[in-house]
Amino acid sequence: MINQQIEDVGSNDVQKGVFWFRHDLRLHDQPAIAELCKAVSQVTFTYILDDKCFNEAAFGFSPMGKHRHTFLLQTLSDLKQQLNQRGHELLILKGNTAECIVQLLNAGGYTHLGVSQHCGFDETAQLNTVKRFFNTLRVIETPTFGLFDAEVLPFDIEDMPDVFSPFRRKVEKHCTPLPVQERIAQLPDGFMPNIDKQYILDIESSLPKPSPSSFIGGESAALKHLETYLFDWKAAATYKETRNTLDTWKDSTKLSAWLANGSLSAREVIRQVQRFEQTIEKNDSTYWIYFELLWREFFHWLQCKYGAKWFRFSGIQGRKPTTCHDPETFSRWCKGETGYPIVDACMRQLAETGYMSNRGRQLVASCFVHELRQDWRYGAAWFEHQLIDYDVGSNWGNWLYLAGVGSDPRGHRQFNLQKQTEIYDPDGRFRKAWL
Ligand SMILES: Cc1cc2nc3c(=O)[nH]c(=O)nc-3n(C[C@H](O)[C@H](O)[C@H](O)COP(=O)(O)OP(=O)(O)OC[C@H]3O[C@@H](n4cnc5c(N)ncnc54)[C@H](O)[C@@H]3O)c2cc1C
Repeated sequence: MINQQIEDVGSNDVQKGVFWFRHDLRLHDQPAIAELCKAVSQVTFTYILDDKCFNEAAFGFSPMGKHRHTFLLQTLSDLKQQLNQRGHELLILKGNTAECIVQLLNAGGYTHLGVSQHCGFDETAQLNTVKRFFNTLRVIETPTFGLFDAEVLPFDIEDMPDVFSPFRRKVEKHCTPLPVQERIAQLPDGFMPNIDKQYILDIESSLPKPSPSSFIGGESAALKHLETYLFDWKAAATYKETRNTLDTWKDSTKLSAWLANGSLSAREVIRQVQRFEQTIEKNDSTYWIYFELLWREFFHWLQCKYGAKWFRFSGIQGRKPTTCHDPETFSRWCKGETGYPIVDACMRQLAETGYMSNRGRQLVASCFVHELRQDWRYGAAWFEHQLIDYDVGSNWGNWLYLAGVGSDPRGHRQFNLQKQTEIYDPDGRFRKAWL
């Protein structure tokens, strides 16, 4: 039975909270929910799916394509089930985020809003707007995205290194990942406000048919995959040697999509990798998973330092590249018709599955910027549309880096496509599979 009460606006003594899920779609390791629950006696759990995700944007297509959309709906459906098992509902709203949040806050008479802190430019702006317009609402913001929070980092975010290596050295010397929050034993009572039906999304009737994709959204699938990768396949023991492979499911962790929408916690990943190290094997490969998660961490905090510059043509260096946008060249790259077989194979893999290996991403981005001489922002926006694991920090940060206007100290990193093909697809199997 869903444990919730009917709207109760006006009873001032009740501390009523709404938890706004954004990129933290899970109940495990959820200190943001824990913090809110300490302060309130009734709670609503909500998620807002913004129409903006599906409307054509500045680059000529929508920010969210079909792969990530499907993955997100699966994730929400799983989250709803997890909440139902705890006697709660998930109120999924659709429309314009600002309009939905105003509807919700006005209808609910809330005293508190709980939310995970997120360094994304839009995410920060959204929350600032809410704080400005609802200035009596107590906003409890808790960091859940990464391994650390701003308080434990050994520098102020404005002074953080712009280059990964000094960032990593300082972090490794002074910080250990924050502990995992244990599951909350007792959630407060549920509360369901009266919201205009036009804003409510019925997740069950919105779920598309299951696709053949290997990625299934939701924290249940995420935790299962983490366990399988570590303890059934024991693949972490060889991660460093295999991570650059173009197309093999077990050769890298494949955790990115769940990490990106927060259905998996990075701290939980580290906890399980440590368990693997204690019970099975500890070596360079197991350390390297932590190393790669530090890249994620680096880009997450760096976007906070640079705000709107994260998306500018001249990047965080303020130096305009000499490339430009040609719609026809761009379209050929998107469709995998550039004439560079390794690039075309990767782009078709992306279109079909919503995923591409890290090596593949580096090659297609390098080709886009150097061989095709295109405006890097179109490439980044196309990745945003296509990737199942799209994350604003990692995607735009890696693109800035490869376009030479981000955090790469070498500035001009062009991959030799011929040589890379010989190393990573020597027998042509990958090209054959996708072309
Ligand atoms: C142009 C470009 C765009 C990218 N866009 C994204 C994106 O939108 N979302 C995203 O999660 N990753 C992005 N990456 C990083 C990386 O390619 C993916 O994280 C990785 O391929 C996902 O597969 P995996 O989970 O098997 O990675 P693994 O090799 O198993 O790595 C483990 C985890 O470490 C993190 N990680 C690994 N490499 C990087 C990296 N270079 N930067 C940041 N984090 C990293 C990811 O969270 C990943 O899941 C991008 C890389 C490039 C070159």
